Amino acid sequence: MNLNQKRIAEAKRIVVKIGSILLVDEKSGHLHRDWLDALGRDIAAWRSRGQEVILVSSGAIALGRRYLGLKQGELRLEEKQAAAAAGMVRLSHAYQETLGQHHLNAAQILLTLDDSESRRRYLNARSTINTLLEVGAVPLINENDTVATDEIRFGDNDRLAARVAAMVSADLLILLSNIDGLYTADPTEDKSAVLVSEITEITSEIEAMASQVVGSDASGGMPTKLAAAKQCLSSGCHMVICEGRITSPLTVLEQGTNCSWFMSQGN
Ligand code: GLU
Repeated sequence: MNLNQKRIAEAKRIVVKIGSILLVDEKSGHLHRDWLDALGRDIAAWRSRGQEVILVSSGAIALGRRYLGLKQGELRLEEKQAAAAAGMVRLSHAYQETLGQHHLNAAQILLTLDDSESRRRYLNARSTINTLLEVGAVPLINENDTVATDEIRFGDNDRLAARVAAMVSADLLILLSNIDGLYTADPTEDKSAVLVSEITEITSEIEAMASQVVGSDASGGMPTKLAAAKQCLSSGCHMVICEGRITSPLTVLEQGTNCSWFMSQGN
């Protein structure tokens, strides 16, 4: 058994974060249906061996802007909110179609930063997610973009996913990304850059590495992935960043592909 496989097998409750760039074609705004179907097969395989899977997926804005005929390029906040409203319907529907092929139910939860900071709403959200898992559904979580203003947005789903992982005491957060992990420098510019395969503490040296690789991944990039890692490490959850732009990324991860592990020492 390789290390990735062992660590995944040890995780009972797993949050998987899916970025827009993996799901939606940037130019045409079309959904990558085959990619999603392959991901659905991966999820069904994990579920059938008793692991709980929670999805945090972006893509509402990217999908919705096409349906609403919004222009290319940067959108105003109001336009993003409108796009999210139109896109979230399609996104949830696509997940349900995919998971339904494996007799799994997707169940949509939209959260704002407020929800995770007010105790009553935090507990409600947590208990809903727990109940969904108990009844065998797959929670599908996104930011509630239509009500979140700029000041109160998570702003990126890396951070939201880490908050969710802490909320439900997940064992592992997997960030499916457009890069296979954290590099010592920007690998597109510096040929000597190497992948850091294991991190147990976010030191200033690690932060300096991340700041050099902002990447094109929607709103996040490496700095928000490190913010997510910090949250995970302090809440006893391991995290892994791996390449998502491949067919069946969870299976490939299990096969032992290169990635960056953030291993919590807390428990
Ligand atoms: N919530 C946004 C969406 O679904 C994406 C946020 C992000 O880019 O991480 O489109």
